[in-house]
Amino acid sequence: MEAMQTSEAALETALKEHFGFDSFKGMQKEVIKSLMKGQDTFAIMPTGGGKSLCYQLPALLKDGTAIIISPLIALMKNQVDSIRSYGSNDNVAHFLNSSLNKSEITKVKEDVTNGNTKMLYLAPESLNKEENLEFLKSVTISFVAVDEAHCISEWGHDFRPEYRRIKEMIKGIDQDIPVMALTATATPKVQSDIQKNLGMSDAAVYKASFNRPNLFYEVRPKIDPVKQIIRFIKENQGKSGIIYCLSRKKVEEIASTLQVNGVNALPYHAGFDANSRSRHQDAFLMEDCDVIVATIAFGMGIDKPDVRFVIHYDMPKSLEGYYQETGRAGRDGGEGRCIAFYDYRDIEKLEKFMHGKPVAEQEVGRQLLEEVVSYAETAISRRKFLLNYFGEEWDEEHGEGAKMDDNSVNPKEKIEFKEQILILMRLIDTIKQRFKAKHIVNILVGKNTSEVSTYRHNNLAEFGIGKDTDERLWMAAIRQALVQGLLYKDIENYGLVKISEKGRAFMENPPESFIIFKDHDYSSDIANSEDILTNSKAGGSAMDEALFQLLKDLRKKIAKQKNVPPFVVFQDPSLQDMANQYPINMEELKNIQGVGQGKAMKFGRPFIELITNYVEENGIERPQDMVVKSVVNKSGKKVYIIQSIDRKIPLEDIASAKGMEFEDLIEELEHIVDSGTKVNIDYYIEDVVDEDRLEEVYDYFMEAETPDIDAALEELGDDDYTAEELRLVRIKFMSEVAN
Ligand code: ADP
Ligand code: MG
Repeated sequence: MEAMQTSEAALETALKEHFGFDSFKGMQKEVIKSLMKGQDTFAIMPTGGGKSLCYQLPALLKDGTAIIISPLIALMKNQVDSIRSYGSNDNVAHFLNSSLNKSEITKVKEDVTNGNTKMLYLAPESLNKEENLEFLKSVTISFVAVDEAHCISEWGHDFRPEYRRIKEMIKGIDQDIPVMALTATATPKVQSDIQKNLGMSDAAVYKASFNRPNLFYEVRPKIDPVKQIIRFIKENQGKSGIIYCLSRKKVEEIASTLQVNGVNALPYHAGFDANSRSRHQDAFLMEDCDVIVATIAFGMGIDKPDVRFVIHYDMPKSLEGYYQETGRAGRDGGEGRCIAFYDYRDIEKLEKFMHGKPVAEQEVGRQLLEEVVSYAETAISRRKFLLNYFGEEWDEEHGEGAKMDDNSVNPKEKIEFKEQILILMRLIDTIKQRFKAKHIVNILVGKNTSEVSTYRHNNLAEFGIGKDTDERLWMAAIRQALVQGLLYKDIENYGLVKISEKGRAFMENPPESFIIFKDHDYSSDIANSEDILTNSKAGGSAMDEALFQLLKDLRKKIAKQKNVPPFVVFQDPSLQDMANQYPINMEELKNIQGVGQGKAMKFGRPFIELITNYVEENGIERPQDMVVKSVVNKSGKKVYIIQSIDRKIPLEDIASAKGMEFEDLIEELEHIVDSGTKVNIDYYIEDVVDEDRLEEVYDYFMEAETPDIDAALEELGDDDYTAEELRLVRIKFMSEVAN
């Protein structure tokens, strides 16, 4: 009966009947046919390639129940829901995991035993339980599908030790069942791990191309990344995007900075409760929010077709991870920009985090990071680099997706390197192909590291032979020789650089020339940028004096009209900043120092008009460099203070809760109101300042020339008033009148 169902026509009918699709996607049909024949089958297809269907359809067609192993409970539930939604009965798919109670488990088992259930989703730890094993032995299993199979390999980006036991469990079931493995990330190393671990070396392997020709890859030095991100988003108004950060803290910080700067963004990480997580995820899917800022917890199973950009605020821990995450862009085949921000210091931080881990794990982690660094620093086509990493050859001139990365669009300097490459390859031969890239370069440049002297490589004729060539260039040469296929990295002992057959041919019969590109040198970019940043801060601003005068005149005029002192309208630093940034709309005005929402609305309009005219009349090129409003100061302490005041908590209690002196709290409050935020401390002032005195001080500020407290003390008499009192009233005054 099964043989009949494997005919192509029958498969297509079933596809239409059960899923409503007209045709198979990519290699689906071949993969399905292979499994239907009872073959062990390994499907390697990119995210969104339609892997689920490769086991769902056979499960429906074959006798018995298919076991599907999947790493996440949330994913399992989604999948089961989606199968049920195709209209078959609800019993057709079930999951068995720790989230079920006893009676639910009994129901699942009944459905499986009665043959109603065609797909049983299991977490790997459930397969491990003795009672489950006993149960599975007693029913007919059609096949076992291991989804997200890269979890088996510590070289994958999401290693789960439980996955290592799958083979044993399948054996335990004691039936002759075909196994299918599916993954979207298979470097040759991970692929070989999966096959070995599942004992499926003879499996039929179907590997789709990983090329995503519509994605544009770009790596930028991590200089002022937030500013770069905001600018990018503003230039891409209304498009959906994901920003990945490595830490939860960064996620929250960036999300709120984006929000303050008018970007419709939400945070997402595993530290939020399930409710907020699904709310934020839904907001993104339903386009109530444009940008999601997330840790890698976000995205598994997300199937939004029109994500237009994926930004890596931090470099990821591995290229597999990077590829998965960037893979969420442009799934509909439309635009997909992938931008990663690179700073070698981030890599060093990641290395430090690995310290507490077992040595073997550290070693793996370090090598994966090295690949990430190579990717970031390489000057060859990024697509070519990535595809090579996935074991795929690709022609950077004519391949699909050519010229779709920063390096191809802006090629780096090229250098003739034939002689050096030959020296390098001979050295690799001399040291019996047993060493890693770094070690090889150390020998070439004559660096006597402890490893070099342990192996007495300092005695080799090649020791120091290449010291006139920069170390970085040697590294670049190795990377490029790897990508060109002259060298390769050993799968069993990952990282050891060996010579391929193509490389041997090259050595025997060298071509006329071998050109390499100079890698990017981000370190100098970043070092310089810090100089520039510190200098520019120290050097003060290049303020437009003429405009500043006009703004001051306007301020005077408005103050008169409104019958308030000029400093209530805007304080000097705000006018200076305007004379620097030339804000010409409300959004931009709100980005000016000391200007909050309230102040912008209350006083901003005439200032914007003045600046707009000024810019037009004088043909001023406004700085492209926009100002990013920071929430760093607002975060934590300030937010706490503002919220506590909303709840009318006595100021002393707020201060002591934050371990501050009362004086420091007052100072924080002054910062808060001076930067344009309203706070209402009436509940507190009522208790400590009597009404007449309050009125007198308030009136004083209404007439004053300056907001200065010393001046106020002098005018009002420091015998009668304390500075603290005046400061409290001034906070109230500024909140009410100025903001
Ligand atoms: P993967 O697991 O490979 O990332 P999925 O199995 O989640 O991919 O499938 C991605 C999307 O492709 C899903 O929305 C699915 O419904 C759709 N899809 C799968 N097969 C087909 C097909 N033959 N025709 C049209 N759409 C398909
Ligand atoms: Mg999948």
